[in-house]
Amino acid sequence: MDLQARTRYIKDALAEEGFPLCGISPAEPLPGEKEHLRTWLAEGQHGEMAYLARNLDKRTDPCLLAPGARSVISVAMPCFPAREQEAGAPRVARYALGKDYHPIIRNKLSGLLRTLQSLFPEVQGRAFTDSAPVLERYWAARSGLGWVGRNGLLLNQHYGSHILLGELILNIELEYDHPVPNRCGNCTRCLEACPTGALTGPARMDARKCLSYLTIEFQGSLEKTDLHGRFFGCDLCQDACPWNRALPACSEPGFQAIPEILKFSPEQWHSLSQDAFADIFGQSPLMRAGLEKLKTHLSYPDKPETS
Ligand code: SF4
Ligand code: SF4
Repeated sequence: MDLQARTRYIKDALAEEGFPLCGISPAEPLPGEKEHLRTWLAEGQHGEMAYLARNLDKRTDPCLLAPGARSVISVAMPCFPAREQEAGAPRVARYALGKDYHPIIRNKLSGLLRTLQSLFPEVQGRAFTDSAPVLERYWAARSGLGWVGRNGLLLNQHYGSHILLGELILNIELEYDHPVPNRCGNCTRCLEACPTGALTGPARMDARKCLSYLTIEFQGSLEKTDLHGRFFGCDLCQDACPWNRALPACSEPGFQAIPEILKFSPEQWHSLSQDAFADIFGQSPLMRAGLEKLKTHLSYPDKPETS
């Protein structure tokens, strides 16, 4: 199979797995990105996410992550939910209404890698989704999946920013794609919509101020923090984005909303036991915050918004 046919085969197989967006770049070190990251970390903007400060070399050189790497395949899966939360339900970021996307995307990519290895025994590689130090948005933008918007997220003109990213780093050469133009234009709606000033400039984000970080990762007290009605995650800068209007609902079964997330009231969350939480939300991203932390979000100055 020649280069072109092999590339086509991989893209078709990924599309069949539910990744309508796929682009490929040559694997090479990223010295410019390394410097940006180093500055961001030195300023402490990553907050308590110490894991972001580890493996700086690997994060900016795919050849260190997967020895012999020649190609970075970026994929994206839409996650815009078919159903919204009911009025009165504490607000959960849309990507977190269904099951945790990490194992879903990783399993699909690992399955494709095994298939490729059975067809082409020389193929070696690794699959990632937010699980290792890969600069996902950089690679996705470079491979033409979209552009990095002023809110720091990857935007695609058909699927907006409600997309989840993954990568396959392979030791084979493939046909490479090209970036697409940034279509933010003069818009600054996301910067204006962010209630905490976490977006400190175009595509620059101070995680310490971000409600997504505070309601998911942060382990300290939020007693004096205005959570602006957020319970788990925050979609406010995405809600403001014109590219997120009228998005198609995603078809991945695992991303369909867990019924209880759509309808649980604050009172039901308060009375939920650990066992019941694990039973209902055992495969949900909400496990990352944990029930006790989530319950405290219901008590802070600005009570979770009801839709
Ligand atoms: S997720 Fe929320 S807090 Fe974070 S940058 Fe966007 S609007 Fe601001
Ligand atoms: S709201 Fe406007 S500036 Fe922000 S990401 Fe969307 S298009 Fe770009």
